[in-house]
Amino acid sequence: MRVDYHCHTHFSQDSQAPMESQCQAAIERGIEEIAFTEHEDYNPGDPTSFYLRPAEYMQAVVRCREQFGDRLRVRAGIEISEPHRHAARAAQVLQQYPWDFVLGSLHWVTPEINTVLPEFFTTWCDGDWREAFRRYFTEMIALAQHGDFDVLAHIDYPARYGTAFFGDAYDIREYEPIVREVLRALIARGKGIEINTSPLRRGLPAPNPPAVVVRWFREMGGEILTIGSDAHAPADVGADIDRALAIARDAGFAHIAVFERRQPRFVRI
Ligand SMILES: [Zn+2]
Ligand SMILES: [Zn+2]
Repeated sequence: MRVDYHCHTHFSQDSQAPMESQCQAAIERGIEEIAFTEHEDYNPGDPTSFYLRPAEYMQAVVRCREQFGDRLRVRAGIEISEPHRHAARAAQVLQQYPWDFVLGSLHWVTPEINTVLPEFFTTWCDGDWREAFRRYFTEMIALAQHGDFDVLAHIDYPARYGTAFFGDAYDIREYEPIVREVLRALIARGKGIEINTSPLRRGLPAPNPPAVVVRWFREMGGEILTIGSDAHAPADVGADIDRALAIARDAGFAHIAVFERRQPRFVRI
């Protein structure tokens, strides 16, 4: 089954796409189920902060279910940045609305440093990008241990933006002990990881995270795996989903997870 479990619409500050257009694109590409995972940020420096209007968003989801429900299952999702640091606010929005699926993300590695900014690689950690990655994954352990979410988004997110600084020298295997600690915490709490295909359409060799991490997760007993494009526009909905499915199968997964009211269900791949 083809699904896309990481998509944005104009309810996220960094997307212009109407939800209807994203649904149409999904149907054209043979996607049977889509989760809209809108940005929910609380960091004052982030343009996406306090942007989501959940009540209107839920109305749009209901409208799309009415319009496309015979061809596409539409899930109400949210992508919460640093849920471990903003637990009270996150709890409020999670309690207030009937979410199907919650992604937990680490975009701001500290309240001052966003991983998409060059500073993450150039001045933070005195320009030692290996140390920057180490601190990123270390912070992710806290998120994995304490955040309220279902699936941890794009595990090595900085890899998407830093090639100008690290070229092809970045290798997640250098951080294996820390990354495995993240995975251990997820498995202990019954949470999952995603294969986020966004880097592939940026010309990068691997998704977030690379196949080796999906394998570690599986070997360690991880069961909940979702697949998403991180599309912010219709052209990207469903992008490289088949490649992600191949990675999942190679890693030993016979199923991927879909969610309804935050409960996983497993579908054969
Ligand atoms: Zn994200
Ligand atoms: Zn996203």
